[in-house]
Amino acid sequence: MTTASTGQTPAPIAQGSLNFDEAAQTLCRLGHLFGQRGWLPATSGNLSIRLQSEPLLMAITRSGADKQLLTPADIIRVDGEGRVMDDVPYRPSAETVVHIELYEALGPGCILHVHSVANNVISERMFARGYVEVAQHELLKALGHWDEDARIRIPIVENYADLPRLGAAVREVASATVPGVLVRRHGIYAWGEDAFAAKRHLEAFEFLFEYLLHMR
Ligand SMILES: [Zn+2]
Repeated sequence: MTTASTGQTPAPIAQGSLNFDEAAQTLCRLGHLFGQRGWLPATSGNLSIRLQSEPLLMAITRSGADKQLLTPADIIRVDGEGRVMDDVPYRPSAETVVHIELYEALGPGCILHVHSVANNVISERMFARGYVEVAQHELLKALGHWDEDARIRIPIVENYADLPRLGAAVREVASATVPGVLVRRHGIYAWGEDAFAAKRHLEAFEFLFEYLLHMR
């Protein structure tokens, strides 16, 4: 896998399953990209790739890392109980529990959690309704909805400070047909079968949120 540090043309975001080194490189590149877009401010957000199922093992960004400046040393392996499987002085993100719930419920290959201005504003504006609805938009194709009259609802959950409670709330509304859940005044969890799909889904959601905010 070509790394960004070689100065060569960057490799595409990987499709399919990855080993730990490949996953760490991929998460660093995603952190740099999303960080430049302002989606991971002030060390917020967390990104993970599933390395194996049963038992679950994921590569995930450590707590407190500046996502714009991520290096592979900021990526740790965490199991389905939230335990760090590497001999490193880092803790996993407190929000790792949400990743675990989503991996257990839906089995995606990658989960991307970001905090953008657009997803925060729309989650607050639409919270009372419980979802954000998007209908008949071209970018719904990127989320797997190809019908001319496609219509999806992205669920919104309360921003519980108790993270196991937040994880359970996200799991309860997460579905296989809409690969994302908004957390009120906080951010979005988006996922996909691999890093390539998760990135496409997240970019589609963020585009649609900005579009809706401009339209209102
Ligand atoms: Zn967060």
